[in-house]
Amino acid sequence: ADLIEKDGYAPWYDGFESFYVRRLKIRIDDCFARPIHGAPGRYVKCFNRIRHGKTGYLYDGTSNECLNLSSYNYLGFAQSNGVCTDYALGCVDDYGTSACSPRAISGTTDLHQKCERVIADFVGKEDAIIVSQGYGTNANLFSSIADSKTLVISDELNHASIRFGIRLSGASVKVFKHNDTKDLEKLIRNQIAQGQPKTHRPWKKIIIAVEGLYSMEGNMCNLPEIVEIKDKYKCYLFVDEAHSIGALGPGGRGICDYFSVDPARVDLLMGTFTKSFGATGGYIAGDKYLIEKMRTNYITQVYSESVPPAVMGQIISSLSVIEGTLNPGEGQERLQRIAFNSRYLRLGLKKLGFIVYGADDSPVIPVLLFLPAKMPAVSRMLYDMKIAVVIVSYPATPLISGRARLCVSAALTKEDLDYVLQKFNEVGDQIFLKFSSGIAGGS
Ligand code: PMP
Repeated sequence: ADLIEKDGYAPWYDGFESFYVRRLKIRIDDCFARPIHGAPGRYVKCFNRIRHGKTGYLYDGTSNECLNLSSYNYLGFAQSNGVCTDYALGCVDDYGTSACSPRAISGTTDLHQKCERVIADFVGKEDAIIVSQGYGTNANLFSSIADSKTLVISDELNHASIRFGIRLSGASVKVFKHNDTKDLEKLIRNQIAQGQPKTHRPWKKIIIAVEGLYSMEGNMCNLPEIVEIKDKYKCYLFVDEAHSIGALGPGGRGICDYFSVDPARVDLLMGTFTKSFGATGGYIAGDKYLIEKMRTNYITQVYSESVPPAVMGQIISSLSVIEGTLNPGEGQERLQRIAFNSRYLRLGLKKLGFIVYGADDSPVIPVLLFLPAKMPAVSRMLYDMKIAVVIVSYPATPLISGRARLCVSAALTKEDLDYVLQKFNEVGDQIFLKFSSGIAGGS
């Protein structure tokens, strides 16, 4: 009750909290924020906890080493691995652990400049700017490129950081049905119809905002059709590649690489270093003049600390491995492994009879659980079997489509995945998660 009202003041928590109050809340909490120790690689060491009182946990210091399908570690760079770790450690020796200043003051090291060059070349754009946080990259981007005369047309399932950034910019927003290019085109035509002839729109500019790979659905945006629409109606296109950069495409260069779309057709390619590179921070890659402008008007460049230089070292070295200039052959091996693992696990789960969302090549594999009460059960049963997965639920998903989200990694072996399939099968049978007797083959 104290969550709901205190001494006549409005409650601090509503929405999520009020939905999950009562006995389910403590069990739902068991799915989240379990402290870990060490690098989140193939395995992750999680601290055991027991319930304490009505709302808390006690930790006795013991831990459980779990197969890790809970961290974003698509290419396996998060765990300690030879050349990258050596390079990053060398950067700590040379640069310390912090640049001690925002980029626009004295926090731009030569490593930041090198990293921006490397990522721009990798994604096929003229220039790039690095920001200290992926969320902050999106949250502050739109204020620097949009205003009240701008219309942003946003996919309904875009990440919270994109939605927040658009709202903050004061731009008008229209939302189209998830990945539905017919709805997108209809919306643009309606907007254009309101404009004057020739100026063709009441808007100074229209920006279409989508993600390369949707992190809750595990599907890719329909980029080939979206670039056609963008060209036809002379809109700008922004693509968030947080989950696709490094993880998709024969060269790991993301969604353009995956669909063989020329990156020149996408105006702004945004990405984060947190998923495929074992690092932190985000970037925007685009035309030189635009990125140059951002170096002064992107507020995080001015008001927020730059990414620690050693993190730049981790990004530069992992990108060099992917491109094959460092440890030739290893990058391709990792890319092939993530492609194989993604398809193998997804198909295996489908064969067992689970309902799985998304595309075959996606390293994000959402397994539908539907009932909120099954979420803590799945999380706990798998944890006891030494498998760590993420549970995603309302408000990140619709109320009745909570899911276990498996993030595949190149660090996992086929034997690991067979173990996961076997244990999922057992859990699925025990708590009635399977919705058919499975598919015979194909996907
Ligand atoms: N964009 C998308 C699509 C994301 O999924 C995320 C985080 N998962 C972010 C941006 C924010 O990135 P970061 O966690 O690196 O801040």
